[in-house]
Amino acid sequence: MYKTALVCGAGGFIGHHLVKRLKAEGFWVRGADLKYPEFCNTAADDFIQCDLRDVHSCKRIIDRSFDEVYQLAADMGGAGYVFGGENDADIMHNSALINLNILNYACEAGVKKIFYSSSACIYPEYNQMDPDNPICSEESAYPALPDSEYGWEKLFSERLYLSFYKDKKIEVRIARFHNIFGEEGTWQGGKEKAPAAICRKVAETADGGEIRIWGDGKQTRSFLYIDECLEGVRRFMDSEFTGPINIGSAEMVSINELADRVMAIAGKHLRKIHVPGPLGVRGRKSDNTLVKHKLGWAPSQPLNKGLRKTFDWIEAQLSIQKVCYNEFKQIEISAS
Ligand code: NAD
Repeated sequence: MYKTALVCGAGGFIGHHLVKRLKAEGFWVRGADLKYPEFCNTAADDFIQCDLRDVHSCKRIIDRSFDEVYQLAADMGGAGYVFGGENDADIMHNSALINLNILNYACEAGVKKIFYSSSACIYPEYNQMDPDNPICSEESAYPALPDSEYGWEKLFSERLYLSFYKDKKIEVRIARFHNIFGEEGTWQGGKEKAPAAICRKVAETADGGEIRIWGDGKQTRSFLYIDECLEGVRRFMDSEFTGPINIGSAEMVSINELADRVMAIAGKHLRKIHVPGPLGVRGRKSDNTLVKHKLGWAPSQPLNKGLRKTFDWIEAQLSIQKVCYNEFKQIEISAS
């Protein structure tokens, strides 16, 4: 008999990859999201387009005791969206409503296990001032001082899930993702993250040109390729541990180095121009001590492997856009 799963946020980057992974493992999968996946068809058996801030929608999609629910839906984006200062009310209100609704109805419907995607953004700013030595072990989350309202909402929701686990006896798994990237993720429009933004800038700039980098580029991060993220999520769901645990890479690079690596992949020499922009903390990387201890596993792929695949995909997206634009211009010219 197959297992059943509900993926909330199945139209998003991690969600639609997760649907594919669960299907490959033999699950019957329902996806739910405001939108369908942007770059390919969903692999879900059933996809319900709905607003998860709405209680009736949540009740409708959780109409059975799914074996597993994955709650990935959130109002989120890259640094430009999260640290821009204009979206805080939406981020907190929308994501909190989604979590309150989903968890409540999952409990009512007798769901066996629920996964919640928290974020490295919950870690206190005071531990991430030194770009070479950030502290991001799970227990360092308190005393809390995230550097964004996005981080505060994630921390509130972690506590919400833990309270339901304690009081209502639903099995919960909480992971803190650290910068997940890969193909079929947002790569333009303002919600893209650093790896996708840099791949796009490098791909669209001719050799010898220049690209803009926010800040001095010395801020550090670790980036995890999507396939390894999903491996971690599935191992975690099958484990006995509630979490929270980090799911991220321990390979830390500065944003300047990230840009240099993408340029090397593209075979281009570009000048980096540093401009003011929203930044976040000075340093952050995943501490994988606990994940190794609890799951006997940690991500191990070198960053460059995933970067190359992501760059190739974004370069291909730009070519498709160019062809479409030229065809459109051709039609305009012949019509006039
Ligand atoms: P994403 O933005 O691609 O996916 C989120 C999805 O949620 C989107 O498809 C969006 O349409 C959907 N959504 C938002 N509001 C909704 C609503 N009201 N009703 C229904 N659907 C709604 O983001 P992602 O990168 O796939 O991230 C998935 C989860 O992982 C999020 O919770 C995010 O906060 C968390 N996370 C991601 C990263 C990362 O690097 N990608 C890092 C840390 C945490």
